[in-house]
Amino acid sequence: MHLTILGSGTNVHPTRAAAGYLVQTDQTILLDFGPRTLMNLIKTGVDRHGITHILFSHFHADHFSDFITFFFDSVIYAKHEGGHRPDMTLIGPRGTIRLLTAIMRTFPSFSRPPFKVTLKEVSAKAFMIGATRVVPKPVVHVPDLSSVGYRIEYQGKTMVYSGDSQYCDGLVRLCAEADLAVLDCSFPANKPGPVHLHAGQCGQVAREAGVGQLILSHFYPIADRYDVKAQAGERYRGKIRKGRDLLTIRL
Ligand SMILES: [Zn+2]
Ligand SMILES: [Zn+2]
Repeated sequence: MHLTILGSGTNVHPTRAAAGYLVQTDQTILLDFGPRTLMNLIKTGVDRHGITHILFSHFHADHFSDFITFFFDSVIYAKHEGGHRPDMTLIGPRGTIRLLTAIMRTFPSFSRPPFKVTLKEVSAKAFMIGATRVVPKPVVHVPDLSSVGYRIEYQGKTMVYSGDSQYCDGLVRLCAEADLAVLDCSFPANKPGPVHLHAGQCGQVAREAGVGQLILSHFYPIADRYDVKAQAGERYRGKIRKGRDLLTIRL
């Protein structure tokens, strides 16, 4: 399993794209699709027209907006450039079907694409994409907004992506004994903000869950002004890496 960070920042970070992750197993899967991550996806050299599954953690714009550009490009490629594109499955928390149906019906050229689009909302159940097992779990982020994290298992290795999350039991359970956890490190521990983890809490989750390796990501600009790695390390003794765009980790 390979994980490539397409975006380690937030909406208006000056040097980092917003949230997006490329996971390569027997499948090529995207986790979230925030602004400027499409350009980083192109830089990886991976065939974007081969992506069949996109998993959304929630629908804040910093996790979603490049999907609009990506989908428009996919339609043009398949309709006007003679390209073949496999069917596309879009998966997310409660609200996914309502939102994406509205987008498909409303945006110019989005309706009746020349490939099948399937919309799915996750339940508590794990599901398979080919030989890759995906376990979704609700996390606590913003009131009245469904948000999930994802656990991805393939060939005996496990990675977890928190999406955006506060400290919560659900997140610790999702991360249990994972080889690698990518956690929302929006803020430094000394300048915590609402509705996200700070660096110290990332370390705490990693320790309580017994993860093998912690990747800090989703930085607001203020998180880059402090040593978030050291802050996480005060609560977690395992390996910690600070995420950056286009960093690839092999499990
Ligand atoms: Zn969010
Ligand atoms: Zn976010």
